[in-house]
Amino acid sequence: MLPVIADDDSLPPRRVLLAAPRGYCAGVDRAVVAVQRALKIYGAPVYVRKQIVHNRHVVAELEQDGAVFVEELDEVPVGAHVVFSAHGVAPSVVAEAEQRELQAIDATCPLVTKVHREAKRYAKQDYDILLIGHRGHEEVEGTSGEAPDHVQIVNDPSEVDKVVVRDPAKTVWLSQTTLSVDETMRTVERLRERFPELVSPPSDDICYATSNRQIAIKNIAARSDLVLVVGSSNSSNTMRLVDVALDHGARTAHRIDFAHEIEPEWLAGVRTIGITSGASVPDVLVDEVLAALAEAGWRDVEEVRTDEEDLTFSLPKELRRDLAAAGEETGLGGHDR
Ligand code: SF4
Repeated sequence: MLPVIADDDSLPPRRVLLAAPRGYCAGVDRAVVAVQRALKIYGAPVYVRKQIVHNRHVVAELEQDGAVFVEELDEVPVGAHVVFSAHGVAPSVVAEAEQRELQAIDATCPLVTKVHREAKRYAKQDYDILLIGHRGHEEVEGTSGEAPDHVQIVNDPSEVDKVVVRDPAKTVWLSQTTLSVDETMRTVERLRERFPELVSPPSDDICYATSNRQIAIKNIAARSDLVLVVGSSNSSNTMRLVDVALDHGARTAHRIDFAHEIEPEWLAGVRTIGITSGASVPDVLVDEVLAALAEAGWRDVEEVRTDEEDLTFSLPKELRRDLAAAGEETGLGGHDR
């Protein structure tokens, strides 16, 4: 628990600016509900390849309910149910699941699937595909696995000079869905300086949730002495929110998984605290942060909204099929977020 921090009435009032939109996106919501519904209909254990979404709290709760998280499919018993995470998988993983006769449920976010389709389409047309993204991230591995002979990963602007293409007129850039919009555009500008005929993806690869959360934090960063970003360290969109807050005027910014990670010294001299959360973070974790700050003396909370979100995705088709066969409701249903 944070100590109560004595106030100084000669200073401006203490307050919290709560960025909105924040927290769960449609793809995360769908993936988490998919595991919950799979556990209910098939019974535990249900295996999940990789973390279903990059959040420690969510993974721990699903584990308690009977989900078993594995790194690779050879850890899953033959014939068992396995859920593919929201970040997507390469075709080789789908083939391995078939070979091991696993009952696969694909919870890949439809917005990641869209990028997979783009990669396949451009590879079929024999383009060199420059995939802007973080090497080693599951999503990037999945997307590049669609066309390994055509994809080169470009991590950031500093890697542009190393790129070699066969035909500059037949080169396209795609991106991971959860990057910093601004840094990605800097990478694209550098690429375009080298390859003026570089083709852009037909629509934004960085997803609506990532870009909405970045716009929301930009809007409050300069007014915040301290920004707290709730989310896990392996969550790309969470980490980008810290970068964006610092780039747009926050005096300091820290990522935390849980309220108890707030260090009392971060609050010294702070009047305004900006708060946001990554796309895989349930509301309860932000509520706990707000409660801890209220106890320490920051009780005035203003939500600052830059957009509304109402997108939802239907559950994976394999699950809808089995739910329907069991006479169960096939929608996302009411659930705790
Ligand atoms: Fe889908 Fe974007 Fe959410 Fe990732 S962050 S799961 S791409 S909506």
